[in-house]
Amino acid sequence: MMTRAPVLNATCACGRVELEAFGKPIASAVCYCDDCQKGARQIEALANAAAVADPDGGTACILYRRDRIACTKGADLLRPYKLKETSVTNRVVAACCSSAMFVNFDRGPHWVSAYRARFHGELPPLQARICTKFKPEGVVLPNDVPSYRGYAPGFLFKLVASRVAMMLGR
Ligand SMILES: [Zn+2]
Ligand SMILES: [Zn+2]
Repeated sequence: MMTRAPVLNATCACGRVELEAFGKPIASAVCYCDDCQKGARQIEALANAAAVADPDGGTACILYRRDRIACTKGADLLRPYKLKETSVTNRVVAACCSSAMFVNFDRGPHWVSAYRARFHGELPPLQARICTKFKPEGVVLPNDVPSYRGYAPGFLFKLVASRVAMMLGR
C-alpha cells in the first residue's frame, strides 16, 4: 500500500488557493537557472506580487510526482504563465494575490515543481542548489548543502526512478 504520509499543505498569500501534496517528494532544491529567474521576474511584475526568487536569485522548489499533488481549494483562481508562447512550462499563479504556486508542463514531464515558500509545517530538508552557473554575478552561495553548476548528479536518476514507480502504480 502506498503511504500518504507526510501530507503537506501550501496556500497562496491570501489563503483562497490551497494545494495538498503527499508522500516523499522527489527532490527539494533551489534552482538558479535563467528560466527560473525570468519566471520569477515575470510573476513579481504582477499586481501585489511578493518576491518569488530569493535575494540571491535562487528559487526554492519541492518536486512532487504529479499524481501526488493537487489543488484542493480555489482551482478556478489558478492562471498559467509562460515565458514564451511556445513554452511547454507553465508557472501557475493564484490570481487572487499573485502568489506563485507551482510549475507544471503541458506535456512530457511527470512531476510538478511547487514553490517551497508557499508550504506550511515541517518541510523536507533542502538537498542541493542547482544550475548555479546562472546565479547573478557576485552572489556567494552558502555551503550548507552541495551546489552544482548544472543538474545535481542523481537528480535525473531520481526523476526517472519516480516515473518508473508511477507507471508501476507505486
Ligand atoms: Zn490568494
Ligand atoms: Zn530552474
